[in-house]
Amino acid sequence: MLSSLHFDSIEVAATAAQVGGTDEVPNVKSSLLIAILSAACAAQTQTLRVVPVHLDATVSIPKTIQFFCTHNYDGQACVNDSVALRHALAPYPLERLGTWSFLLVPTDDWRALVRGLRQNPVSPAFSLIDQRIIVVESSLLTATPIRDKNLMRTFGVIGSALLDLAVTHELGHGICQERDERRADDYGRELRQTKTVDCTKTPRRSQQSKH
Ligand SMILES: [Zn+2]
Repeated sequence: MLSSLHFDSIEVAATAAQVGGTDEVPNVKSSLLIAILSAACAAQTQTLRVVPVHLDATVSIPKTIQFFCTHNYDGQACVNDSVALRHALAPYPLERLGTWSFLLVPTDDWRALVRGLRQNPVSPAFSLIDQRIIVVESSLLTATPIRDKNLMRTFGVIGSALLDLAVTHELGHGICQERDERRADDYGRELRQTKTVDCTKTPRRSQQSKH
């Protein structure tokens, strides 16, 4: 997460048959239920209905990586945003994630989701390390003027630069199984600069504010 927040538990509560095909628009019948539990307060459970996204194979990424959108995500936007997210992820060593999911959530639902977990909704992405999921707000992929203003004020960048910043920070958490925000920032920076990361060394402590 591009802030100091953590979530510790996510459960797939129910699984329906997945749809097949290429570039298929997500279908509610294929939805899964994901319950997100806040580690700090198990009573703060949120259940998300999500749909798996099936993308064409024009960009080669590991088959162990899956994309999901929440059930109310616009169907075509889900495909487009997933493709854009995949494009942003492609330069990085995704095979080191192993089995991993990326979940897209509409901006309109983001505050409620994150606040419901008693966390700070400023960050447009967060990682559920134990559940091997990175949750991404749609505003990282599709411009939303009001939210963009807010993100610009907080992070100093917007658009593809913010997407890259967020993706590499979360990959720092995911690839290195790292919960510490400062270290995730350092791993993210190493990913941006070198397209790889050495999780065995302790990165130099950043002097920048943590986001
Ligand atoms: Zn983080």
